[in-house]
Amino acid sequence: MRAINRSVILNSIKANGPIARAEVARSSGLSPATVTAITAELIEEGFVYEKAAGDSSGGRPPILLAINPLGGYVVGIKLMEDHAIGALTDLEANILQRHQMPLIDRSAEGAIQVMADLVKMLLGLGAVPRKKLIGVGVGLAGIVDSNQGVLRQSPYFGWLDIPIRDLLQAHVKAPVFIDNDVNTFTLAERWFGSGQGVKDFLTVTIGRGVGLGIVTNGQFYRGAGGGAGEFGHIVVDADGPLCDCGKRGCLEAFVSDPALLAQANEAKSKTFIPQTVNDLEELARLSQQGEPGAVAILHRAGSIFGQSIANLVNIFNPGRLLISGEGVRNGPVFFNAMRTAIQEFTMPGQYNDLELRIEPWGDDIWARGAASLVLQQLFESPVLQDVKP
Ligand SMILES: [Zn+2]
Repeated sequence: MRAINRSVILNSIKANGPIARAEVARSSGLSPATVTAITAELIEEGFVYEKAAGDSSGGRPPILLAINPLGGYVVGIKLMEDHAIGALTDLEANILQRHQMPLIDRSAEGAIQVMADLVKMLLGLGAVPRKKLIGVGVGLAGIVDSNQGVLRQSPYFGWLDIPIRDLLQAHVKAPVFIDNDVNTFTLAERWFGSGQGVKDFLTVTIGRGVGLGIVTNGQFYRGAGGGAGEFGHIVVDADGPLCDCGKRGCLEAFVSDPALLAQANEAKSKTFIPQTVNDLEELARLSQQGEPGAVAILHRAGSIFGQSIANLVNIFNPGRLLISGEGVRNGPVFFNAMRTAIQEFTMPGQYNDLELRIEPWGDDIWARGAASLVLQQLFESPVLQDVKP
């Protein structure tokens, strides 16, 4: 109960602060005595500080409570195919330090060692003592059992059932939380980004793959076994190209970075595109220069992506849909085609409810998302945290 009240109070200060104690009591429904006792504890621990109100017209200014962003620190790590990205953040998920390390040994043990080294490095760069580290969050591609802290299946490494949380915890001596990378991104948006104040929103990421995060009625939706959101593997055309998952014609097999590059270089062999295309920036640039092969590829992929998103919108009726990921570099040809298809294929009412946002992208966002995994534990009441059967 105390832990729940503590999160409720912290969350109220985070959402409404600077805020007076009386106001916290009123908005949380807790007794003033409880609020006073718990805030004293939070001040003592450095998570909250007292601040005098700025405008005083003679009388004694009320004392307000605010979150102390530097009351604790978090490390967020995103494990990529060949490197790990890490960020040291404050309590408001602001990035203070960033660093990345290559994965030379691609075994699970090798990756754990790199992540442990990254934590040490980031604490050193930020001159943060280990006791101020609240926890480490790790975002990974694949199917993750976040309650057990186990990576069930990794598409990039071929690992199965790796207890990443416990292995890393033994190294860093601080609580470790792990989750699927798209979920961590969604969490960051919900607590600190464009998902704030929206009860029903979706995040779609595009890039190396396609991912989906679902928040309905303010709650994260994970599905019966934690596998919800495999949007990249909905079938667009059962006779389509082979996907990484072993099936044919998944959305990812049409619109992911590797799929687009394969299409570009196939078009080159048929001389629709005169040059070898090395990366997505190059393909996007060719399309903006009007190179017909590049325009055709990105227009078709954007349309397919938009149709698939329209299906999601028709099912979930989100108030907001955030699109992000490395694929935001695909450029206007892709995204204009996507917007047209979304408008064309959603039910009119659903379309009117929808606010579509394309979020700028940087590798930092993944690491910030992973850090939010830890911050969630601080701000969200344990009863509201995702409970799995
Ligand atoms: Zn697939």
